Amino acid sequence: MTRIVENISLALEKLFLLNGVKIEDPMKIIDAHCHYGSGDGLNGPWDTRASIQKYLGWADEAGIGQTVLFAPFHSHYAEANRKVGEMVKKNPRRFFGFAFVNAEKDSGRVFSMIKHAVQLYGFKGIKVHRHDAHISREICEVAQAFRLPVLYDVMGKVESVELLATEFPKVNFIIPHLGSFADDWRVQLAFIPLLRRHKNVYTDTSGIRRFDLLEMAIQEGGAHKVLFGSDGPWLHPGVELEKVFALKLSLADEKKILHGNFLRLISKVRKRPMNLGNLTSLSRRKALQ
Ligand SMILES: [Zn+2]
Repeated sequence: MTRIVENISLALEKLFLLNGVKIEDPMKIIDAHCHYGSGDGLNGPWDTRASIQKYLGWADEAGIGQTVLFAPFHSHYAEANRKVGEMVKKNPRRFFGFAFVNAEKDSGRVFSMIKHAVQLYGFKGIKVHRHDAHISREICEVAQAFRLPVLYDVMGKVESVELLATEFPKVNFIIPHLGSFADDWRVQLAFIPLLRRHKNVYTDTSGIRRFDLLEMAIQEGGAHKVLFGSDGPWLHPGVELEKVFALKLSLADEKKILHGNFLRLISKVRKRPMNLGNLTSLSRRKALQ
C-alpha cells in the first residue's frame, strides 16, 4: 500500500516538474565509492590501475548521475589525489572527490594535503585504508577541522570504530562493506550494532554479498546510516545498485541511501578549517607554517 502511495506521489512530482515547479530530483543517484587513477604498485588492480571508461557507461545505463572518486592504493597520495582532483575539476557536476591519505607515510602533512585538496580541488571527504596503516588521531583532527566525512576501510578491525566514534563524535565515519570487503560474516555481524550505537558511524553498500546482513544493517541502524556505493570500476555499479532496489524499501528510505545521506554528510564541509588549536602538535606546527 505504501508503495502505491509513493508511486502516485512520484508521478505527481514528475507532473509538477513538467509544469516548471522546481522540486528535488526524486531519482538522483550518487555512487559514493569509486576508485580512479593509477597506482604505482603491481600486485593487483587495487594498486595498479582504476580506469573508469567502462564504469561511466555502466553508470549511465544504471541512471547513476554522480560519483565520488578517490585514488587506488598509491605510495604518494598527494600525486594520486592530484589526478583525481583534475578529473573532478573538469567535471564538477559529475564527480565529487575524496582525498586519500596514508596515516603513517603522510604523518605530519595531513593538514597541508587536505587543505590543498579541499581548497584547490573542492574535495568533500577523506579516504583512509588500514591496508596502508591504522587511521591516526591526526587524520581525525584534520577531518574535524574541515568538517569532512572519513571513509575508512577497517579491513575487519571493527573494534577500532568504537574508539573513533567516541573520541571524535563530531567526525562522521563511513565504514565501507560493513567492515569487511572479504565478506567476513563475523566482522560484518559485529559491526552492525555500532551503526545503531553511534550516530556518527555509517556504512556503504559496496561489495556486500550477504544480503541478509545488508537488510539487518538497515533494520538495526536505519536507512539514514547507509550510503549507496559500488566500489567501481572493479565492481559493476548497476549490479551493486540492484541490491538497493532489491531491499524494497520505502521511496523515502531509498532516497536517503541513493543520495540524501551522502549530501547531508558533505553539507558542512568548510574550505577554511575550524579550531586549529585542537590539532596534534605535529599537524598544528605544519598548519601554522
Ligand atoms: Zn574501494
